[in-house]
This record gives sequence, structure tokens and C-alpha cells, in this order.
Amino acid sequence: MVKKLVFLTVALPVIFAQQGRLRVIAIGAHPDDCDIKFGGTAAKLAKAGHAVKFLSVTNGDAGHQEMGGGVLAKRRYLETQESGRRLGIAEYEVLDNHDGELTPTIEVRRQIIRAIRRWNADIVLAPRPNDYHPDHRYTGVLVQDAAYMVQVPNVAADVPALRHSPVFMYYQDGFQKPSPFRPDVVVAIDDVWDVKANALDAHVSQFYEWLPWVDNRLAEVPKDPAERKQWIRKQRVQPLSKEVLATLERRYGGEAAKKARYTESFELCEYGRRASIAELDKLFPK
Ligand SMILES: [Zn+2]
Repeated sequence: MVKKLVFLTVALPVIFAQQGRLRVIAIGAHPDDCDIKFGGTAAKLAKAGHAVKFLSVTNGDAGHQEMGGGVLAKRRYLETQESGRRLGIAEYEVLDNHDGELTPTIEVRRQIIRAIRRWNADIVLAPRPNDYHPDHRYTGVLVQDAAYMVQVPNVAADVPALRHSPVFMYYQDGFQKPSPFRPDVVVAIDDVWDVKANALDAHVSQFYEWLPWVDNRLAEVPKDPAERKQWIRKQRVQPLSKEVLATLERRYGGEAAKKARYTESFELCEYGRRASIAELDKLFPK
């Protein structure tokens, strides 16, 4: 989908000045991870005319209590396309790697290097490599391992290497070891919360079937589509940590920060280009 061009009003470094349009790729392990961690910010970026792509590294063919394999992968793929449409992003790609079995192999690393290069990404988002789910953990490792290699021409040589280093960011998580998440930039998403909730609602096999089943809460899920959409909205409310609140106040000012209920936060990865906090404030939408 071609979005209309909107020029940023802030001064951006030369590499981002591709007609004022950022190219952003969010990478997740499963066909709903990017939506959960980045859906609100993605909707804001897309609305402002930036090119946003989601990439799921696995096809989601394992996480379900009643179905699996190709039938489930196909269903999950269709859900990603609907979610991407609701968010207004340019593309949602799903790689055909098995769910629950992801390992940080050279082959998958090459897939990620190629995807970042093809998107000509300015910003890459991924999970931190500390996580309860091995697929999330190895997605974090794979993206870290790709961070330098995207610039090395002889690696995955069939796709030209980038001549710039993208900024790599981590999604927020609650894991404390070996180090807790640090919110370098916080985006208040109250104004797009409906859009995000509507995108999550597209993942029927995840939010209304698999996740409640694995949590032993399947009986709580309303049958009526409108009621279950309200239900998903309530499930996804998270209290803001004091670190998130402090960053929110710095970025938005005290009064606006007090009103914020829904946020998405991101931490700068030490690999890739090290943007300053002031620059991150400009790159991420408000
Ligand atoms: Zn996941």
C-alpha cells in the first residue's frame, strides 16, 4: 500500500531524510508479537506516512490446542494480513519457520539480514534476548546477530548490503535478569488504542482461543464478537512502571503524562547506530 508522503517538521540526520519518510521494520517471533508490542506506535507512524513493515520469524503453526501444522499456519497468516490492514501498515510478512522450534541458525540469520536490507530500514525493532519463550529469545539473538551483518556485502550476498547502520530498538518486557528493560523512548498510544485493539481482535486464533486456553481462562471469553472486542481491550491494560512514567513525563510534560493510560516503550540496542535520546524523541511519534 502506498501511503501519502508527510514531511517531518524536525531536523533529521541525512540517512533518515529519504523525503522525510522513515522505513521501519518490526520483527517478532510469532504472527501477533509485533502487534502486541508495537501496534499503537506502528499505527501512528503509518498514519504520518512512514513505511512500516511487520515480520514474523515463525509461521505460528504450533501454538493452538485444537489445530496445528499448515492449516494453522495459513489461518495465522490470514490473521496477520487483516491485522496489518487494520493498523494501516505497508506490509506484514510471515517467514515459513516452525513455531516453537526456532533456533539462531545461520540460515534464519540470513533471512533476517535480507529482510532488513530489502526494507532499507532506518529503524529495526525486536525483542530483547531474555524471555520465557525460546522463539522470542532467539528472535532477539537473531536480530542482534544481524545488526552488524546487514552492512557486510559478502554475507547473504544476493541482497545488496546497507550503506548505513539502522537504529535497533527493543520492545518493552518485564524480565529482570540479567538486566531490566530501560525505557529510552515512550509513546503514548491512547489516541490509537482503538486501532490497536481492533488489530489484536483480528488475531482470533490467538486472543480468543489459544492464549485464554493456555491460561485456563477460555470460559471467560465472550462469544459475541462485539463483547469479546471489549474483553480484549480490558485484558491489555498494563500499569505504567515508574521508569516508564518518568520517561513519559520528560517527553510529554507532566500534565499530558498524567492523562496517558496506554503506552508502548522501547530501549535502544547497543548494536547498530547509537542514536541519542534527543534523536529518538524526534524519530518516534508523539
Ligand atoms: Zn510470541
